[in-house]
Amino acid sequence: MKNKKQFFTTPIYYVNAKPHLGHAYTSIAADVATRFKQMDGNETFFLTGTDEHGDKIVQAAEKQKTTPKEYADKISQLFQDLLPVLNVKNNYFVRTTDLDHIKVVESVLSKIYDSGDIYFSSYEGLYCFGCERFYQERELVDGKCPDHGVAPEVIKESNYFFKMSKYQEWLIDHIKTNPDFIRPAQYKNELLSFLKEPLEDLCISRPKSRLTWGITLPFDDDYVTYVWFDALVNYISALGYPDGDLFNKFWSSTRHFVAKDIIKPHGIYWPIMLKAAGIEIYNGLNVHGFWNVKGSKMSKSVGNVTDPIRVTDVYGLDQFRYFLMREMVFGLDANFTEETIVSRINSDLANDLGNLFSRILSMNHRYFAGEVKGPDTKIEKEKNLSLASDAKKAIDGFKQAMALCEFHKGVGAIWQFISTMNKYIDKNEPWALAKDDVNIPILETVLYNLIEGLRVVSCLIYPIMPQTSLKMQCTLCMAKEENEFYTLKEIDSWGQIQKGTVIAKPDILFPRIDTDKIKPNEPVKQIKSFKPALKEEISIDDFAKIDLRTGTIIKAEKIEKSNKLLKLKVDLGAETRQVIAGIAKDYSPKEMIGKQVIVVANLKEATLMGEISQGMILAASHKKGLVLSGFDKKIAPGNLIK
Ligand SMILES: [Zn+2]
Repeated sequence: MKNKKQFFTTPIYYVNAKPHLGHAYTSIAADVATRFKQMDGNETFFLTGTDEHGDKIVQAAEKQKTTPKEYADKISQLFQDLLPVLNVKNNYFVRTTDLDHIKVVESVLSKIYDSGDIYFSSYEGLYCFGCERFYQERELVDGKCPDHGVAPEVIKESNYFFKMSKYQEWLIDHIKTNPDFIRPAQYKNELLSFLKEPLEDLCISRPKSRLTWGITLPFDDDYVTYVWFDALVNYISALGYPDGDLFNKFWSSTRHFVAKDIIKPHGIYWPIMLKAAGIEIYNGLNVHGFWNVKGSKMSKSVGNVTDPIRVTDVYGLDQFRYFLMREMVFGLDANFTEETIVSRINSDLANDLGNLFSRILSMNHRYFAGEVKGPDTKIEKEKNLSLASDAKKAIDGFKQAMALCEFHKGVGAIWQFISTMNKYIDKNEPWALAKDDVNIPILETVLYNLIEGLRVVSCLIYPIMPQTSLKMQCTLCMAKEENEFYTLKEIDSWGQIQKGTVIAKPDILFPRIDTDKIKPNEPVKQIKSFKPALKEEISIDDFAKIDLRTGTIIKAEKIEKSNKLLKLKVDLGAETRQVIAGIAKDYSPKEMIGKQVIVVANLKEATLMGEISQGMILAASHKKGLVLSGFDKKIAPGNLIK
């Protein structure tokens, strides 16, 4: 039974630039958290998407001589394509240019406007075009925007303002009475200290004279909505607010994942918007730090943006996911260098886990031909050989840490157990036990405990390294058919690997990385999508309607007046057909004779250039032309292809 619900979101990513390491981290962190919640018996929903309106998108599109929509489509696609590359399993991908989203933004704006919390006023202020927002004098550093290092311009215009100040006391109280609202605690304190100063009302419109790429205000056609007021609403529009099933089911269990630079919109604007619109406040905010690349904050201008596709390509996907979760203390900044990732892979993955796995299973092969021998419980007790309590400790530590998104501690709990198992081998020396028949029951007990330990490890690493988890479980003959993970409850009881199970020989889990072989600027493998686009899905029944047969070409000639078509006689066993094929540019009549091909035998007769065609032969098309399909062995004509 699944009573517990969990809704996780990443921020919707702004399409002003291609995805980088920071985006990959947030998406993977939310994916790991979601997979963990599933193991913990929750029904989950995981949302990500793209934020597509505003000045910056217009500017970026102009640079590429395209329209904002075309530009947004292109970059949004890159974000969508990245998800399967990172093995991130979102339930939905929202775009702020979606019509459904736009409707919800309009309805939330109308609601707040009708309640009197939006007013029209003229305003003169310091505006940073890079940030698309007005700045207070006190927020500037040496008179310059802290993010862009340029002096903001003085702009005077009439706009719509949202009465945030009215809700300041309410928000302070909400944060204080819900200690879990913002995690980790340092960000809660940061927000509370910011809220000690009076809160300015938020300018939520941009005049169309300056910007048209946005959602028109439902109460004034001359203005579009400020991009944050539009973007934040994605979290409810994607769930089908106000009365969608998903909204009813998941909204109250919402936790947003954000990086620390967008804590104000998420921790201040958003709860106040919800409050003003009479919508339940989300459950909480998980705030993470930045990845520093070679010691400085990642940014496009510094030119140190790390391409996540390249990293997974060079080091492996699970290795990358492991590194991100292990290296960053959630909430603090972390350093990304290729040296640290290589050292994590070689020591934590290849040495600690990979070696453990292959050592244990190789010994089990050497001594027992792969068969799992049961533990002798008496010997186990006498010699204190059980690993059950260490496993329990790992499971509990993992569960506690992961529930708070303390991923590095969750990983730490697993690796503590791995280290215990490695020491257990050194202490009990199975190779010495194997030398004397008297000690065989002890050896059996030792190896059983180690194999059980591997079972527990294979289950616990699932959220972080799903592929490796599955690989280990296939080797241990315990992969589930119906599901790709074991719940925490299922993992817990010790002694699940059955006596008599024959375990396959281990594969290498993590090859060691030889740094000399990595070229730092090797070209990156691009994500490929189908071109032309993949056709609509069909059922097996649809496919079964096509009658494909083996055929042999017995005669071929050119068709006059056509430089494309060949007239073929095809032996189909039961009959001979005439087929007109558009392959004259790629194949001469002479080379066609005797070829074995695939024929669509139940295609409706057609007439081409005055000649009857009774079927079609299959060929692959590529840039330079066509290549006939065929067989790798000689086969008689007329056989069915399925
Ligand atoms: Zn700025």
